[in-house]
Amino acid sequence: MGIHRQLRGVEHELIKDLRKTSVPFLQLAEKYGVSRQAISVFCGKKGIKRPKREHTEKCSICQGLIRIAKKPHSDFISSQTIREQLRLERATIRYHIRILRGQGLVSQKFGRLQSRRAERAYQIYFKKRIPIGTIGRLVGFKNFYSVIKKHKDLGWDVPASLFTYDSNDRREAVLRRIKTRRGGAGMDKRQTLDVYPLEIRKGRRGRG
Ligand SMILES: [Zn+2]
Repeated sequence: MGIHRQLRGVEHELIKDLRKTSVPFLQLAEKYGVSRQAISVFCGKKGIKRPKREHTEKCSICQGLIRIAKKPHSDFISSQTIREQLRLERATIRYHIRILRGQGLVSQKFGRLQSRRAERAYQIYFKKRIPIGTIGRLVGFKNFYSVIKKHKDLGWDVPASLFTYDSNDRREAVLRRIKTRRGGAGMDKRQTLDVYPLEIRKGRRGRG
């Protein structure tokens, strides 16, 4: 298949990526679902000069930031956590993140999350199949729904909740509420989170 046919429909976007960012060919190849060579040939044929990557390639701070940004859901890592991991001042981090964003080497949202509580809530949200309201209570958000909505409205790519509210999830939620009322008071939040799925399974077997 010819390069032009493979890239038909995305040429405009690809040209923009090549001109404005210094994202490596290999990464662009993955994005557009073609070979690295196809991107390279395309770039040559169009006579596109790519922005220099000197700073980011040599800068240890930028490399550290890129490493963090490659983690899953890294847009939801708070700026405070990033600072702590790299042990750097706020202004320093900001300067280098701006360069990386400008070159498209990190997402536009990377490093923008300010709230540690939101970070904690999202970590649960991505991993556990539990209702959003429950996550909110665990981390101390009155309304985690509205936090998610706010982020979505601002253009954050928030994946769908693992908790789908199908019949099984709904049943578990009801059981969870019953258990919480009966005996959950003595446990702390973390214990509650770890213990309940097991208890619910036991309860189900008893009934079934
Ligand atoms: Zn840098």
